[in-house]
Amino acid sequence: MAIEVSCPGCSRLLRIDEIHVGQQALCPACDEVFTVSQQNTDEGIASETDASASNPFAPSSAPVSWDESAAATEYQDVAPHRGTLILVMGLLSWFCCCGFGIVAWVMGSQDIKQMEAGRMDPNGLALTKAGYWIGIISLLLNLGMVAFWILMFAFSIRDEM
Ligand SMILES: [Zn+2]
Repeated sequence: MAIEVSCPGCSRLLRIDEIHVGQQALCPACDEVFTVSQQNTDEGIASETDASASNPFAPSSAPVSWDESAAATEYQDVAPHRGTLILVMGLLSWFCCCGFGIVAWVMGSQDIKQMEAGRMDPNGLALTKAGYWIGIISLLLNLGMVAFWILMFAFSIRDEM
């Protein structure tokens, strides 16, 4: 069965057979040598420290060969997603300034299109959509508040006249 590991050097996702877990692997993209571990399959940051802590030049079997077709066709020429950044923009628009909501909206809609076209890493789709919608909602709520206060202001002027 094939598993996906992320290279600690360039964080590219690579597909490898799970019989190679525990062996040394050579990243075809950046020539980083690292130990294949099950933890690498999660795209977490914790796995990165794990991999760098272990000595990449420890004696072991020769670097395994990649399933070249899978690595090359699926993950090359695909831009990394900006899901985390878009989600941060969405949250900033919620808690700080709704101006960030415009950024999350624009970036999110662009990136969702890129992912649907297969030009961007689709793993970030959930994050991107979350940031996108949070940005839109906070923007609309802020606009609603502004409209509300303008109406209140207009009514108060009319009552005084
Ligand atoms: Zn790499």
